[in-house]
Amino acid sequence: MKQLRGRILLFFLVVFGIFSFIFFYISSNVFVQQGLEQQGEDLESQLVTLQSQLNGTVDSQDDIEEVLPGIEKAAAAISERITLIDLTGNVIYDSHADQNVIENHLDRPEIQAVLNGEMIGTYDRISTSTEDLRYYTATPLLDTSGETIGILRLSKRVEEMTGVTDELLRFLLVFMGISLLLTVLFTYYWTRRIGDPIEEIKQITHKLSHQKYSTRYRSTSYHEIDDLGQTINDLAGNLESQMQEIKQNDKRMKELINHLVIGVMVLNENREIEMVNPIMNETLGENLYGKIGHSYLEVIKSYGLNQLIEAAFEKKRLQNREISLFLQDERIVDANIVPIPGRIQGTTNLIVLLYDITEIRRLETVRTDFVANASHELRTPITALKGFSETLLDGAMEDREVLIEFLEIMLKESSRLDLMVQDILQLSKLEQKQIRMNVESIEAKAVVKEVFQILQQKAELKKMELRIIDPKHVQLEVDHDQLKQIILNLVGNAVSYTPEYGEVVVEMSYLDQEVMIKVRDNGIGIPQSEQSRIFERFYRVDKARSRNAGGTGLGLSIVKYLVENLNGHIELNSEVDKGTIFEVYLPKVFENRTNLKR
Ligand code: ADP
Repeated sequence: MKQLRGRILLFFLVVFGIFSFIFFYISSNVFVQQGLEQQGEDLESQLVTLQSQLNGTVDSQDDIEEVLPGIEKAAAAISERITLIDLTGNVIYDSHADQNVIENHLDRPEIQAVLNGEMIGTYDRISTSTEDLRYYTATPLLDTSGETIGILRLSKRVEEMTGVTDELLRFLLVFMGISLLLTVLFTYYWTRRIGDPIEEIKQITHKLSHQKYSTRYRSTSYHEIDDLGQTINDLAGNLESQMQEIKQNDKRMKELINHLVIGVMVLNENREIEMVNPIMNETLGENLYGKIGHSYLEVIKSYGLNQLIEAAFEKKRLQNREISLFLQDERIVDANIVPIPGRIQGTTNLIVLLYDITEIRRLETVRTDFVANASHELRTPITALKGFSETLLDGAMEDREVLIEFLEIMLKESSRLDLMVQDILQLSKLEQKQIRMNVESIEAKAVVKEVFQILQQKAELKKMELRIIDPKHVQLEVDHDQLKQIILNLVGNAVSYTPEYGEVVVEMSYLDQEVMIKVRDNGIGIPQSEQSRIFERFYRVDKARSRNAGGTGLGLSIVKYLVENLNGHIELNSEVDKGTIFEVYLPKVFENRTNLKR
């Protein structure tokens, strides 16, 4: 903008300079000319006056010197140079030079003009006698008979004649100088007044093009420029709010994508990863954020998924398939590959959506296995009941001792059957969420005492000790029946799998936001290799021993289900022949999260 201002200034200076020069040149010429004319006319009228005084004062050319006193008198009165020349060009008198040394004047243009019959002859030239630029005017001097006897000439220095004009020109020059200065000052002022706001507008538009939308026009100038500034402010305001909206939407979209339970990955036309969400990282078991801009082939090693992606690129149609990913452990995903138009026209980008259905499939398998296992488990007591009753009917009931022994076995088997059916029913009710939760603040010790009462007889038979350690009088928000079921199953197992004279201790304590209920026994323990499986349905370490102990293999499945349903978790610590510790962690304050669960 400074350049523009300089250019405008220079332009004005040059234009003004040229016009001033032309104006000065013309006006000085006009002034000089007019001065000369005016002074020339004055000189001529003076000459004519002198001529009228001297004309007819002598009779002939021979007496010409008689006019000299009159001329000298006139010369004394005026400052102009008076010259008297005879018809041969000889100077008879000159008021400003010595006539004796003056050359012949016959060839002087003003003399020639008079000799040629003109009343007034004029000329301006450098005088050879006084050596200055002079204006000459000459007229004939007549005798009494009207004959020309000589030539009277008046002359004046041109400098004197144009003296006033010079002053005028000087004044003009000063005036023009001041005008030029004012022009420079005003031009500078106007260019600043217009230039600065325009410079500001230029900077604002530059900032806007670099996405700095908070910038605003603040100068004040002519209203046209201010209007332009206001329009730019409106534009900046609109852009700012639009950009905020876009950012807001972008943020929402990112939040949405980041919280989706489906893995999302966007691939560009070059098969490079443009975007991923956290679930995609989890699903593929890799941090894909470091792979943005890399080919998807670097991270997706599944042949099936790659094939599906390539098919989507090729056919430009949605592709869907269930695919097994063999990562650290097998993952089953429902893959949807959605083609979308790319940023460059005619290209295709892809949205890869992977829904991890491993858990769903696992549950499905668990369910089918459960049905198979349940039928199998139920068949054992039923077969026993059927076999014993058939044997009895076949005649064995005649023998009273056998009858009693068989009936006892049948009673035991039917009790087991009853237990198993009860457990199966409870599990299925839990899974179908048929059991209503009634959460209330409970003292854990009271529940443990209820459980001990139930198991008292069994423990006494094995001469076992049941103990409670609860120095803090632990309280928690929980469903009473569910907590009782958890403790019953754990303490029941502890009693079952601990030999005579053993002990079972239930210890309660507070941990930060949780409550820990520890069930410890000094029984047979669980081998390390089996520990990961004992929460599975119908899983038993030693089937015969479990059956003898009246177990169904469902107790710990129910415990695990209930604990997780109460937003807690369970941990196992056991050593063969030393004992087992089950630690149940439950939140102090229950928060209903069932709706949040998948
Ligand atoms: P069960 O009805 O057979 O006891 P559970 O699901 O309750 O079934 O337990 C699964 C298996 O875990 C049991 O069969 C048993 O082998 C083992 N187990 C559970 N609790 C204990 C414990 N306190 N000590 C030793 N083994 C245990």
